Amino acid sequence: MTEIGKPVPQPTPESQPYWDGCLRGELLYQRCAGCGRAQFYPRSACASCGGTALEWRRSEGRGTLHAVTVVYRPPSAAFRLDVPYAVALVDLDEGFRMMANVLSANPERVAIGDRVAVTFERRGEIALPQFQPCAPRDEDL
Ligand SMILES: [Zn+2]
Repeated sequence: MTEIGKPVPQPTPESQPYWDGCLRGELLYQRCAGCGRAQFYPRSACASCGGTALEWRRSEGRGTLHAVTVVYRPPSAAFRLDVPYAVALVDLDEGFRMMANVLSANPERVAIGDRVAVTFERRGEIALPQFQPCAPRDEDL
């Protein structure tokens, strides 16, 4: 049986600095110099005001889960050993939201409101941001 690799994102001119940051273990996001809004994913213009004066900032990589779901059916054969796993919308402390996996030994216990911290999974030439629980809840201790 042929081993099928997991998909790897293709950097674009807009996202190249972001992916370069991931390889260094840094989670970067854009901040609009015009209106001050943080945005993710990387774009050539601000989604709020249309301004193009965007600065790259480094996130501390900590956030709170806004939504979470558990994947039971692998999207492809490459993920068959990973299920079940949790996928979440993470609200980073700097004010932007991103989707990523939450690495947990108990994915069904990953919950909205959980605090998480970023970590990076190397996949070929790319490092993918993922999150892991931090500050465990009382019932986990
Ligand atoms: Zn703006």
